[in-house]
Amino acid sequence: CGIIGYLGNHEASPFLVEALKRLEYRGYDSSGIATINDGVLDRRRAVGKLVNLSDLLVHTPLPGKSGIGHTRWASHGEPSEVNAHPHRAGKVAVVHNGIIENFRALRRELADKGDLPQSDTDTETVAMLASRYLSEGMTPAQAVEKTLSRLEGAFALLFLFEGEQDLMIAARKGSPLAIGHGDGENYVGSDALALAPLTDRITYLEEGDWAVITRQDVTIYDAQGTLANREMRRVSLDK
Ligand code: GLU
Repeated sequence: CGIIGYLGNHEASPFLVEALKRLEYRGYDSSGIATINDGVLDRRRAVGKLVNLSDLLVHTPLPGKSGIGHTRWASHGEPSEVNAHPHRAGKVAVVHNGIIENFRALRRELADKGDLPQSDTDTETVAMLASRYLSEGMTPAQAVEKTLSRLEGAFALLFLFEGEQDLMIAARKGSPLAIGHGDGENYVGSDALALAPLTDRITYLEEGDWAVITRQDVTIYDAQGTLANREMRRVSLDK
């Protein structure tokens, strides 16, 4: 339901939780964040209000200067910790808004290769597919591009990869996603409001776009994989 990503020079988790609070108005049943710290991917998830996630983070902090976060409004799979985002498979973590219509067919295909899901969500299938392509030798960008070509439905997706401290990959089809530009930092949000305290420089992804994001650069491709030039706007929201 709500997506946030932080790739910066400060600890990510306070920014992620703060941004998720700004997205609370959309409604949600669970929440979670994942970060990369010294190359290691880890996550925390909790059912119910965001305060449950913040409490968990007090007791078991999640260090790292890059991370993704999500507030979930369940469509496939009951609200539970196992079904909460970020979902993880191998080196891939992903948060997702929307629905992957063909996830059952994709699950069967993955099961035939021995890859079995841990949750009841459509979202986990996206992480599993990307992980499968990585293990076949693709780069993260190639694995995401290939994964996107397999998905039917409406989605906004944000990926993080173990071992990649300076990388997030975002994709938009049928569900909005915005990139926020900072100074030596970049952010992603499902709406500009989530990004408001971080930056007022925003690029909205267009339908079918996906973006490779580092601290210094944002490279946007369209659905055909062609470099896309998207306008950066100044969005002034009440801070
Ligand atoms: N379909 C996904 C799920 O049920 C994402 C739901 C959402 O948009 O929050 O986990």
